[in-house]
Amino acid sequence: MTTTHNLGFPRIGAQRELKFALEHYWKGETPAQALQDLGAQLRAKHWSLQAGLDFAPVGDFSLYDQVLDMSFTLGNIPERARGLPGAALDSYFRVARGRAPADSSCGCVHAGEMTKWFDTNYHYIVPEFSAATRFSLDTSRLQEQLAQARALGVKAKPVIIGPLTYLWLGKAKDGSDRLDLLPALLPIYAALLDWFAQEGIEWVQVDEPALVTDLDASWQQAYATAYEALRNSGVKLLLATYFGRLESNLALACALPVDGLHLDAINARAEVGHVIRELAQDKILSLGVIDGRNVWKTDLHATLAWLEPVQRQLGERLWIAPSCSLLHVPVDLASEQSLDPEVRSWLAFAVQKLEELRILARALDHGRTQVQEALVENAAAIDRRRASPRVHNPEVAAALARITPALGQRAQAHVQRSAQQAALLKLPAYPTTTIGSFPQTPAIRLARQGFRRGQLDQADYETAMRAEIARCVREQEALGLDVFVHGEAERNDMVEYFGEQLEGYAFSQYGWVQSYGSRCVKPPILFGDVKRPHPMTVKWTTYAQSLTDKPMKGMLTGPVTMLNWSFVRDDQPRLVTCRQLALAIREEVLDLEAAGVRIIQIDEAALREGLPLRREEGMDYLRWAVECFRIAANGVRDETQIHTHMCYSEFNGIIAAIADMDADVITIETSRSNMELLDAFDGFRYPNDIGPGVYDIHSPNIPSQDQIVGLMRQAGQRIPAQRLWINPDCGLKTRTWDEVLPALRNMVAAAHTLRAGA
Ligand code: GLN
Ligand code: ZN
Repeated sequence: MTTTHNLGFPRIGAQRELKFALEHYWKGETPAQALQDLGAQLRAKHWSLQAGLDFAPVGDFSLYDQVLDMSFTLGNIPERARGLPGAALDSYFRVARGRAPADSSCGCVHAGEMTKWFDTNYHYIVPEFSAATRFSLDTSRLQEQLAQARALGVKAKPVIIGPLTYLWLGKAKDGSDRLDLLPALLPIYAALLDWFAQEGIEWVQVDEPALVTDLDASWQQAYATAYEALRNSGVKLLLATYFGRLESNLALACALPVDGLHLDAINARAEVGHVIRELAQDKILSLGVIDGRNVWKTDLHATLAWLEPVQRQLGERLWIAPSCSLLHVPVDLASEQSLDPEVRSWLAFAVQKLEELRILARALDHGRTQVQEALVENAAAIDRRRASPRVHNPEVAAALARITPALGQRAQAHVQRSAQQAALLKLPAYPTTTIGSFPQTPAIRLARQGFRRGQLDQADYETAMRAEIARCVREQEALGLDVFVHGEAERNDMVEYFGEQLEGYAFSQYGWVQSYGSRCVKPPILFGDVKRPHPMTVKWTTYAQSLTDKPMKGMLTGPVTMLNWSFVRDDQPRLVTCRQLALAIREEVLDLEAAGVRIIQIDEAALREGLPLRREEGMDYLRWAVECFRIAANGVRDETQIHTHMCYSEFNGIIAAIADMDADVITIETSRSNMELLDAFDGFRYPNDIGPGVYDIHSPNIPSQDQIVGLMRQAGQRIPAQRLWINPDCGLKTRTWDEVLPALRNMVAAAHTLRAGA
């Protein structure tokens, strides 16, 4: 019999229950117990949705982040969060977001750094290390979840992050080598596995996705050492790799003394044969046969066609699962009542993916005829999608064929352009600006919701949005900022807003995916050729500009980010989809310019996260990603200033590509990492203007004027002052006006201090 299991289930809840519970708790509106109870309810519900699998994950549920959970399990809590008043949950949230509900509004610690989980749009809290880091085991979280699972009769397979991936994900703050901590870390892992054994656990899933990245010899050796030390632990270990191919780590992964290996058979299908040959006969092989990263139905016939021979070969040793944790897909397609029915019939969310898994297992074990009906239905949906005229638009194909390099080339170099722009814009030194969005107030949300539900007509909705824009302009005048934004009140989300106005996109109602903590995104579904039927932002930007003499930035989302933050087609290369998006955004850029907009910001917040996990593929990706940005942005006249914005980006290794985009100004996130990110800009001598973020908008804490001046001075040591801008790390939509106004006041005051040279 084929064993079925799941690597992880989305924890946010089909209706984002966890998000709302967290936010109530943080505001002090509900006690900790209410949050814990909701967590338990969600886990129970999610396990029931996984019923029928041979193993369900336990420990995949997290109140904020699974990596932060692991840090707490391993006793790796930053010094600054220790010894403060309150319960363990308080220190947890202090590290997660800089404060616990009981803390005063000044906040008491700075939050842990956040970065992207491999090549996904999920963000984790970076483990902090130093040479002095010591670990200690805390099983309380796992104990609670295991006890609950046991009480519910769940066939539990605990999930933990493996020791090497844990170290790999972290950062040594003192420049020491993380690998030196391995000897101190391994006894804690050994104790954890012992504890699982005492709890009567049979299998533990040890996530080691670092194995799909380029590892040097010291890391490979450390893998061997670590798993040698953890063998004979009394539980069986399933070493889980996902998101890509093992490549030069394949032999190593197969040889580690564990009891089973999970391979992402969506992204590493080509390696399945090789792994089967390498893997010892007494190990199980778990194949991730359903795409845990995308929303399309699995082609069950095609999957069975390659899986049946594998099953004949492996017999009982075959396990099947989704390719990775289902954290990256929405919960349940059944919630979608207003999704375009044709598109809907092509999709599978987490619940449906597990159903596909059950069907595959039955077909493997009892023959396809046992699931005939399901297979016929699946094949019909796959065929309909393939043949749909809504997917292919010959006009778009023709436009793509007309792309030439000239489309992405500005007339003169940045130095010349910037002189022209300066003459026109007349900005002071250290110009101040924001990244685009201002707080999304309950009133804004209500107006958008009313409009969507037809309770508010077009005219009333526009009046409401104009009032919000006017408010933003007023506030920016009062603050004394130099370059204004309209505030993005009309945008639910920076990708969805544009996707809704483009052909080729469909939208779910509840297709939420966790981005970090309580933040969720609802990635649009890019199913067909992309076309822009009409201008998307011009009326809002020109209205905003009509209210002020200060330059108003036009605000767009770039093609690469549109691509990386959507669920995209799996029937053509990503670069083809990206070029289609680039042409659509280009039309908008040119329309904005024609309407008199002098600064246009094209956000590429997600450029880096699309970077494949391997260096070699990375070069290829960067080439076409930059090409697409240039197509979108560089059709403007030289006096038009192009900005781009990127969040969370580590620029080492991609800085040449970033420079190649040739944006006049780039704003980036830097405040949490203390301007460390600027190292790349320094070493490379990035030629254009930079706004390093000075306000951590992911934390409710308000930076003081002195802190901002300090950060800018650090930046000034690396980048000449005449090329520096001052701005927050990212958009302000998740903050409240109460937080934003004092922070920006401090920012403007800091600019005055710097201009005065004080
Ligand atoms: N312009 C967007 C905003 O301000 C940028 C958001 C982002 O980079 N994630 O919200
Ligand atoms: Zn950002």
